Amino acid sequence: MGVAKQLYQLQEVDLEIESKERTLSQIASQLGESQAVVRVQNQLQLEQQRLEELRHKQHSVEWEIDDLVTKVAAAEETLFSGRIKNPKELTNLQHEVEALKAKRDQLEEKALEIMDQVEQSETSVAKINNQLETLKAEWQRQQQQLSDEMERLKAILSDLRQKWQLLSEEIEPQAIGFYQELRKEKGTAVARVEQGICRGCRISLPTTDLQRVRGDNLVQCSSCGRILFLA
Ligand SMILES: [Zn+2]
Repeated sequence: MGVAKQLYQLQEVDLEIESKERTLSQIASQLGESQAVVRVQNQLQLEQQRLEELRHKQHSVEWEIDDLVTKVAAAEETLFSGRIKNPKELTNLQHEVEALKAKRDQLEEKALEIMDQVEQSETSVAKINNQLETLKAEWQRQQQQLSDEMERLKAILSDLRQKWQLLSEEIEPQAIGFYQELRKEKGTAVARVEQGICRGCRISLPTTDLQRVRGDNLVQCSSCGRILFLA
């Protein structure tokens, strides 16, 4: 086998390795935290905080109501006990009871409102929680797929590197050195010759070049400098 063909085969492997490595790093960049999951987690935390505050508010209102109920009972007990004889004092006490009752009614109204808000917030928390679970499951599935794909690519890359090694052992080290320099410079070091045209630069080769390519030597395109390979 001519050295140009060997180098061409080596290049095929190199290009395949490059492409697989690109895919691998693209996949690696997709691994990690999900923005969507983080966003919903924050949303959940906010709603949970709100719910906690509402429950706290609900309890204080309930305690205030209990306190008022006790006060009303005590005042009414005094009012109907007959212990107070003074009419002015009785009227005052009556007003006091009415005021306490009005305050109690107002707080009971407020307690109902808060209870409503608590229920709404509880529904929200449950809804966001569900959403989060769904997102997390989807994200985990994706991550699993990505790491499976990474494993698959790594195995392919390892095979390709082995293939590269085997191919390169058949080629003179000097030729490989030259090939690698050209690759660094031009991306592709070996260009096929098709219908008298160098596929590297798409320029028609002079007859002398074509004749030399048919020999067993390493011939460079006189236009782009790539190693020519006649299939
Ligand atoms: Zn060329």
